[in-house]
Amino acid sequence: MTPDSARPGPCPSLTDVGYAPYFSAQLDLLGGEGLVPARIAADGSGLYSLLGCAAAQGELTGKLRQKLSPAERPVAGDWVAVDPSHDPATIHHVLDRRTVLRRRAAGRAAATQIIAANVDVFFVVTSADRDLNPRRVERYVAAVLDGGANPVIVVNKTDLVADPSSLVEELGVAAATTPVVCVSAQAGTDLDALREHIGQGTTVGLVGSSGVGKSTLVNRLLGRAALPTTATRSDGKGRHTTTRRQLLVLPTGGILIDTPGMRELGLAEDEGGLDAAFPELSAIAERCRFGDCGHSGEPGCAVLAAVEAGEVDRARLDSYRQLQREIAVAEARRDPAVAGNVKRRWKTISKAIRALEREERQRRR
Ligand code: GDP
Ligand code: ZN
Repeated sequence: MTPDSARPGPCPSLTDVGYAPYFSAQLDLLGGEGLVPARIAADGSGLYSLLGCAAAQGELTGKLRQKLSPAERPVAGDWVAVDPSHDPATIHHVLDRRTVLRRRAAGRAAATQIIAANVDVFFVVTSADRDLNPRRVERYVAAVLDGGANPVIVVNKTDLVADPSSLVEELGVAAATTPVVCVSAQAGTDLDALREHIGQGTTVGLVGSSGVGKSTLVNRLLGRAALPTTATRSDGKGRHTTTRRQLLVLPTGGILIDTPGMRELGLAEDEGGLDAAFPELSAIAERCRFGDCGHSGEPGCAVLAAVEAGEVDRARLDSYRQLQREIAVAEARRDPAVAGNVKRRWKTISKAIRALEREERQRRR
């Protein structure tokens, strides 16, 4: 490490912007002559702004542009291998992502959209002055875990309420299984508890509804007004139309990724995030009679039994099932073959259920 790397300045070093062995190993394997790593700081229309290399901007080579699917194209946080001898630099490879944040893209096709890549920790930001919605928090937590990152629930605007601890209680089980930090971005209180999650070289993303104070929080952590907040946005159009997503290097080390304002975060896939976000349910589900029990009335369902016994929060189960349905619909829309599979699978299950019920009835006679 050069002495410069400890001092994030106008031209941050690779380690300042989160370069790690996971990425350098890939670059070594590629072995491309003259290729250097760079991180995508923002994606404009075809021209990407870069950090960590001499070139400020880069564009995909024609070959790469053809090869990449929309979900594979670089997003904020991606690591790419560039040839910096051109201006703009040419991007030859997008390195394998360590984590992603996905959501269901708008439109009927229900394609998956990648919002950010290689984020280590996501601050799931909520605001103390509105109704805290545990269901919305669970949705974000599931999406973050599904993409391989770690969630931290941030309750902002605590200056507006008398008793922030009651808010944590409202969050219920979500708060019991995910770290929660209560702050006031405006007053600048308890930000150190947040900084504990932003280690040197750690990439932190912020998600949450618009208006909860994400931009204010980013500016606070940066120590300067890098992002326009509602108070400073004069055109009344909202952030997502006025600025692009951005990657910001903190003077104290660590990287912030500002994600575009999202009205909703629709889940599109499940690679285990749902079970990770509902650990108390998945533990009990192992005792269900069917391995793929939907916990919606199948015989021998341990989860429903636990709900009835008052051991599990029914609202959590409802939330889990709602997200599960949403994912199934998105998967089916994306791939009609999956829809067929789901139907076929359901036929098999319902047949098995009917057989079991018949058995049961006969035994009772
Ligand atoms: P974003 O849409 O999530 O980026 O939210 P902004 O950062 O633009 O903040 C939305 C509004 O909430 C602005 O008027 C901020 O001044 C205000 N705000 C942000 N943080 C706090 C806070 O901690 N306390 C209070 N009272 N207001 C805040
Ligand atoms: Zn079950």
